[in-house]
Amino acid sequence: MPRLMGKTCVVTGAARGIGRAICEAFVREGAEVILTDIDRTAGEAAATALGCGFMPLDVREEADWAALARHVPVCDVVVNNAGITGFESSPGPHDPENASLADWRAVHATNLDGTFLGCRYAIGAMKAAGSGSIINISSRSGLVGIPGAAAYASSKAAVRNHTKSVALWCAQHGWRIRCNSLHPAAILTEMWEPMLGQGPDRAERMAAFVSDTPLRRFGTVEEVASLAVMLASDEAAYITGAEFTIDGGLLAGSATSPG
Ligand code: NDP
Repeated sequence: MPRLMGKTCVVTGAARGIGRAICEAFVREGAEVILTDIDRTAGEAAATALGCGFMPLDVREEADWAALARHVPVCDVVVNNAGITGFESSPGPHDPENASLADWRAVHATNLDGTFLGCRYAIGAMKAAGSGSIINISSRSGLVGIPGAAAYASSKAAVRNHTKSVALWCAQHGWRIRCNSLHPAAILTEMWEPMLGQGPDRAERMAAFVSDTPLRRFGTVEEVASLAVMLASDEAAYITGAEFTIDGGLLAGSATSPG
């Protein structure tokens, strides 16, 4: 029996990367999936390839969420995946001493405001049935400081905490609407391509990026999607307000033994 049969699922920022892989896994598990993205052309192409519905959605825009609520008034699973580091639109600096207020706000607008609006939509779309699963994609960077990407780390830490407020709010009201956060690190997506390049030193660069990761490799989008499937399914009925690292052991400590 597919694990998400009969469930309607919305995923943000899903034209590529982790979001797209989550859509693919949800479809495989029998869900009806509405793939959303800020990029209409790429989003529609991905949705067609995967057999999903599509809605254009800029997670920062309340009006886009209102349009989604009209189109998909009831759903079972919302994955707040859309996120930016800040480097996509600005070379920075993104450190705490020199970052501009505009850059700081831009990152929080997508990562934090977008997740707030996504959770608000999800509660509205789930509370009639009184059940559902909200999955917020935070980051390892939401659990530790990142001096060179301070707004990213701050926004992802806030996503982690907001997840717990949402979980408790829903529990207080007697709804079986669960809300959990995922904390990936070094998952090989297009986000990494500018840093890895296509030159002869690509393999060396990749190895350097994961040299502190106990499992010594990048994670795959499919591995993150597997965790999302579990949290979306009824197998996770007793899991709410929780955080899940998926980081090859990075936050567990060092892989190197003393001496
Ligand atoms: P990608 O950059 O590959 O994909 C992100 C998608 O989100 C793109 O399609 C992008 O569209 C879209 N997007 C950007 N801004 C918005 C917006 N305002 N509204 C809607 N969609 C938007 O990212 P990943 O797949 O690598 O990451 C997905 C999530 O996982 C992010 O939240 C990220 O922070 C998190 N994460 C990723 C890690 C990794 O190593 N890859 C590690 C830790 C966390 P466009 O390209 O047009 O901007």
